[in-house]
Amino acid sequence: MRIAMMASEAVPFAKTGGLADVIGALPLALEYCGHEIIVIIPAYKCISEAKLKITRVSRDITSSVIGKNIKVFFIENKSYFNRDGLYGDKNGDYPDNLERFAFFCRRSLDLLKEINFPADILHLHDWETSLAAAYLKNLYSDLSFYKRIKCVLTLHNIGYQGIFAKEEFPKLGFDWNLFDIEGFEFYNKINLLKGGIIFTDFISTVSQTYAKEIQTKELGFGLDGLLKSRKNVLSGILNGVDYSVWDPSADRFIIQNFSLANPEDKALDKEDLQKICGLRQDKDIPVLGIVSRLAQQKGLDIFAQGLDEICKLNVQLVVLGTGDLKYHELLKAAADKYPGVISLNLKFDDLLAHKIYAGSDIFLMPSRYEPCGLGQLISLRYGTIPLVFKTGGLADTINRNNGFVFSRYANEELVKLIKKATEVFSNKDKWASLVTNAMESNFSWKVSADKYIQLYAKAKKK
Ligand code: ADP
Repeated sequence: MRIAMMASEAVPFAKTGGLADVIGALPLALEYCGHEIIVIIPAYKCISEAKLKITRVSRDITSSVIGKNIKVFFIENKSYFNRDGLYGDKNGDYPDNLERFAFFCRRSLDLLKEINFPADILHLHDWETSLAAAYLKNLYSDLSFYKRIKCVLTLHNIGYQGIFAKEEFPKLGFDWNLFDIEGFEFYNKINLLKGGIIFTDFISTVSQTYAKEIQTKELGFGLDGLLKSRKNVLSGILNGVDYSVWDPSADRFIIQNFSLANPEDKALDKEDLQKICGLRQDKDIPVLGIVSRLAQQKGLDIFAQGLDEICKLNVQLVVLGTGDLKYHELLKAAADKYPGVISLNLKFDDLLAHKIYAGSDIFLMPSRYEPCGLGQLISLRYGTIPLVFKTGGLADTINRNNGFVFSRYANEELVKLIKKATEVFSNKDKWASLVTNAMESNFSWKVSADKYIQLYAKAKKK
């Protein structure tokens, strides 16, 4: 099959979260299975600044190659994409995000014809590209080149929908008749994700539990009714991990490689982490790691409420993340109050992320909701035991054999479970068997790619 993947970020070019990991890895697994893939993303400033091999294709298009021969195309537009952020800056989202991504979607569709890539499937991701489904079905439907193309839209996080003021609707280039309850309208505003969900042929999301959860009032963020009405074309496919990037036996960022054959060598990475974080080098103190966007969704509210108690448990905390200023401030105050207990790193830092996955004992991920979650899957491979709230992809991947799970979302429950985890940690044999189970788990992309291929085949037949 021929698959064109459009997304707003992709490893190794531009990343703010798990979406980039998916777009960097799924195409490789699909190519390995014999399919022809291209990827299209915006030409952000960080891409031209990175020292990557990029060639010019045409006036406003450049490209690079990933995997064996997967072309990644970058859509240029200096005024839209030549900025420091992908979606916004310290003042919040860029005010012209609707125009930026509408432009990206249309330019990407035009590109398919220019490079003569008659895709069977257009695979879209999240609100930034969901508009392409609406363009395809409305503005491009009469053009023979586009007639056969089927759309799959993957929802990575329904908490982000691309909502804009009604007045911006003309900028999309549609007739006003698409601005109604059966189209883009959402409480008198434009909802780009909603439009995508309506016009796409198939919808997937990134875990089976999350596919059910988004059909409920509690986690559907207002789109539960619509998703329920489309449940026949909605399914859940778990994300995989790119083990060529996240592999403790070959990771170049960590001081000591280890694997199931020598898990005890992980101790040297713990020592290294404690050293670079200014924490006491003591193998008997459990190190709790966090690598996360600092947002309420990630459980930062209950974590912050429980922090005083957590810090009194004879643990060390290494936090890496950026996000809501409120949590930056809260964590800064806690780090000042508990020196030697909290190492606070308010930044995006891939190298430190690798060191935290490798050097921590426990990985905290108390997300309020979590479509799939990659952090817990990565930490499993590094023998770092995830401690999670039972939701979405966390519920589908973590259980008592490979981690710790709490099922009532409250700071007391989180603290109680951390306490329990530290008790288990002090039992060397029990802990070693947990680590073995964790490291044995396999969430490679192969399994997930097979499921996407089945979904594409179904869409193609439709
Ligand atoms: P999200 O909802 O943010 O996409 P995921 O768990 O799916 O959450 O993926 C997050 C990805 O981003 C993981 O690869 C994680 O290691 C990485 N990440 C998050 N915050 C940081 C950070 N501050 N520095 C480095 N990597 C980060």
